[in-house]
Amino acid sequence: MSHYDSLGLSQSASTEAIKRRYQRLILQLHPDKNSTLDPQSSNALQDSKRAAKLQLVLKAWEVLRDQDSRTQYDATLAATGTLGGTGPKEVVNGEVDLDDMAYNADSGTFQSSCRCSGSYVVSEQDLEDGVEVVSCTTCSLRIRVLYSVVDE
Ligand SMILES: [Zn+2]
Repeated sequence: MSHYDSLGLSQSASTEAIKRRYQRLILQLHPDKNSTLDPQSSNALQDSKRAAKLQLVLKAWEVLRDQDSRTQYDATLAATGTLGGTGPKEVVNGEVDLDDMAYNADSGTFQSSCRCSGSYVVSEQDLEDGVEVVSCTTCSLRIRVLYSVVDE
């Protein structure tokens, strides 16, 4: 699992996109914020999963925030063959069509339920940034959001 996977971004994501994504994930994964969002699911197991995920996000941000260390990291990924069709980048647990997700006009987000009773949330901004893989807010499952991209 690469640092891009931790953030649910593709390797071509802009620094600005990475920053926004990081900030959003930090808010999502922060224990205090989350326990009020979904009090029923805040048991010890999920708390520890969330903490582990938070660590991954923090680590990813540390590497990708800086252009130099990001370039270096990209080179490492290329060298180890992590990218491409068979890499961890492709490991998702399902696919959902954007049309099948519930749209929330207030927040500009699309939402889909996870089997764990958590949810997948992707914003219009994420989609513009090229986000395809969305992690569940509660468990470690990931889905690929299918939508047509208007290319340049
Ligand atoms: Zn889940």
